[in-house]
Amino acid sequence: MLRNSSPDQYAVFGSPIKHSKSPIIHEQFAKQTGQDLVYTAQEVSAEYFSAAVDDFFANGGQGLNCTVPLKELAWQYANFRSERAERSKAVNTLVLQDDGSILGENTDGIGLVTDLVSNQGISLKDSSILILGAGGASRGIIEPILSQLPDNVVIANRTVVKAINLADEFAGTVPIKGCDFDALAGQNFTLVLNATSASLTNQLPPLPEGLLAENGVCYDLAYANEPTTFVRWGQANYAEKSLDGLGMLVEQAAEAFYLWRGVRPETQLVIDSLRPQMKS
Ligand code: NDP
Repeated sequence: MLRNSSPDQYAVFGSPIKHSKSPIIHEQFAKQTGQDLVYTAQEVSAEYFSAAVDDFFANGGQGLNCTVPLKELAWQYANFRSERAERSKAVNTLVLQDDGSILGENTDGIGLVTDLVSNQGISLKDSSILILGAGGASRGIIEPILSQLPDNVVIANRTVVKAINLADEFAGTVPIKGCDFDALAGQNFTLVLNATSASLTNQLPPLPEGLLAENGVCYDLAYANEPTTFVRWGQANYAEKSLDGLGMLVEQAAEAFYLWRGVRPETQLVIDSLRPQMKS
């Protein structure tokens, strides 16, 4: 295909978007891999989503990331979706195809699994996993987690019916069930994932004592300049590792970059470069 000399356009749409780290991440990926592209963050509300995406692709856009509160709308917008995105009912990456159609993908779950397994050396096989929260992020990570063949998965949520419905939706070979936080008393898990948004307001779901197995790992999908409330909870409960979601953020971006450009960037360099900035 003939291209003019201006760089290819990519963006992340969301609201609020001001604090997004995605432009810095993609700029580093592009520099590292010698790709000529521009990636911007644009404030787009749900109301204007469809018109804004039409406009973006009509004006030369090649690929889009969509974040809160647009992932379900992006799922609807896509002309077709990967099997994983289809099941998660949420799309964070739109990819322009050669025939002009738009593919919808969800790279959040692969991002999480890559960070846990490849970066942190944590095997999910045969583990017992607790997922706190049953919102969009939880929905996006379940399939990639189940594909690692854990022993069992429990989803706990404040609004219990959402946890039960989500577990029912993903029922298959790996035992998975939904419950409320009270039902966690007396159970323990080798991996506890916080997929609630509680950390964003410095809150913590009500978690019983003894929830984390010996040598267990805690992972908060949220990230912040300082350790999140959940990361601190993990540390106080003697987690072998208590991690935040910065690695997941960079890994989901790398997966999107690969879908758009066909090149895999080196992620650890980027994670390492962002970590000190977050402390400042
Ligand atoms: P949603 O708004 O879709 O879901 C929020 C979830 O959090 C719901 O299950 C809600 O419960 C629960 N919740 C909110 N506040 C509390 C509280 N105080 N106590 C207990 N439960 C609470 O958000 P998302 O699923 O999109 O995002 C969840 C988190 O994941 C966010 O912190 C987000 O930043 C992070 N994330 C990180 C990514 C990364 O790359 N690192 C990627 C995507 C998300 P209820 O249903 O009862 O309201």
